[in-house]
Amino acid sequence: MRGRVSDDRDKVELYLSLGSNQGDRRKNIEDAISLLNIDLGTPFKRVSSLIETEPWGFESDDKFINAVVMYELELPKGYNPEAEGLMILEICKDIERKLGRTGTPQYDEKGDRIYTSRPIDIDILLFGDNKIDCEELTVPHKLMYEREFVMEPLKEISSDK
Ligand code: AMP
Repeated sequence: MRGRVSDDRDKVELYLSLGSNQGDRRKNIEDAISLLNIDLGTPFKRVSSLIETEPWGFESDDKFINAVVMYELELPKGYNPEAEGLMILEICKDIERKLGRTGTPQYDEKGDRIYTSRPIDIDILLFGDNKIDCEELTVPHKLMYEREFVMEPLKEISSDK
């Protein structure tokens, strides 16, 4: 039976970016990973070093701690990437709320994001080879290639070396 189960499932690598510039930043990152381990139903497979970075997209004296974490999810063959991606996004948003993040994303009159300080931010960078483009979710993450604070830790733990 065990073989059958794994034959019916795909292993899919999920890369998440974590950032915090409020409160106990390292603890926020560690707590987020502990909650992700529970909610994603599996312990993380790889985690990058924690790096300290300047705020991106806004001015603040409060620097960020950033990291990237990778999970290997076992999903049923033929799974729906958008539905699974949205479920993962909900898990991330729920953890952001649990760790004290309040409010909804704000946008300026041109439609650009207004970034502010936050105890925790969790973004979905890559979800296997899936491409998702719906109102709530774009994967691969739209801005990841422009963000050194994402690409440096991602390269550290990436499977594509
Ligand atoms: P945040 O960076 O957490 O403030 O996210 C703002 C919004 O971006 C969320 O409410 C999501 O609906 C949306 N979003 C789009 N693509 C992604 C992604 N790849 N990862 C996380 N959030 C995303």
